[in-house]
Amino acid sequence: MQINEVAVLGSGTMGNGIAHVFALSGMDVLIVDIREEFLKNAVQTIEKNLERQVKKEIISPEQMKDTLNRIEISISLEDCKSADLLIEAVTEDLKLKKDVFTLLDKICKPSTVFASNTSSISITTLAASTSRPDKFIGMHFMNPVPVMKLVEIIRGIATSQETFQEIFDLAKALQKVPVEVNDFPGFISNRILMPMINEAVYCLMEGVANREAIDTVMKLGMSHPMGPLELADFIGLDVCLAIMDVLYSGFKDSKYRPCPLLVKMVSAGYLGRKVGKGFYDYKK
Ligand code: NAD
Repeated sequence: MQINEVAVLGSGTMGNGIAHVFALSGMDVLIVDIREEFLKNAVQTIEKNLERQVKKEIISPEQMKDTLNRIEISISLEDCKSADLLIEAVTEDLKLKKDVFTLLDKICKPSTVFASNTSSISITTLAASTSRPDKFIGMHFMNPVPVMKLVEIIRGIATSQETFQEIFDLAKALQKVPVEVNDFPGFISNRILMPMINEAVYCLMEGVANREAIDTVMKLGMSHPMGPLELADFIGLDVCLAIMDVLYSGFKDSKYRPCPLLVKMVSAGYLGRKVGKGFYDYKK
């Protein structure tokens, strides 16, 4: 199937990056969120990130202009009806995602492929909330989407070979590197990354070291570009906690229990960079 129109659901950290990449590659993109102001912020972020790419001579000013012209915004799910591909990037919450997919299943044409950018939730479970599990797949982009090459392509139990190949090839067309993954909690990336971040939070909570020391050990000792606490702030602490909850309930193994300090930070609303405060302060 020819994919011309893409609808991106959710305009947060990931949604705006996904919209950026699709629009830059020449597709018409509709971004849908629940509030107009979120959408306006998302378009501003896309503009800022495109400007950065122009400055670095990765793209031309004309490409930037064309990309912005291909992006539309809406607060109505109904506007997704003509999309060939729908990419869901709403908050990491099973019930919310299932509800949204159930509604979209009725709105979108039968041929529309549904992809979820979930970090950890079962693709098979999400697909079961629609009448098109064969056309349902995981397309897990990395943050920041315009920069990071990897996309995990996750097959649900019923994902057809045709859908898999189409989305795998599409990721390559977006200049990304797709990796095939089967549907298990956290897939590959977050099954490995999140327990490391969670352990770093335990180190902080237990007073093994302060935040700078923990991040420095992982940066200089293990050659990680960011320390785990910095990275958690970048990802969003609510997202990190939601992923740990999925790993914990999915495997029923105590090694995945979320660190109480992570739970406390999320309860306090200290969600990381996106709110200006997490393990570090970004308001200054
Ligand atoms: P975010 O909190 O930055 O953005 C979520 C957006 O979804 C918000 O703008 C919110 O208003 C919107 N939303 C909520 N309910 C909605 C609805 N009913 N309809 C439309 N929009 C709705 O979250 P994020 O970090 O962008 O994460 C989005 C998804 O991407 C999650 O599933 C997350 O696990 C996954 N993900 C996140 C990262 C990361 O580093 N943050 C990386 C890979 C994947």
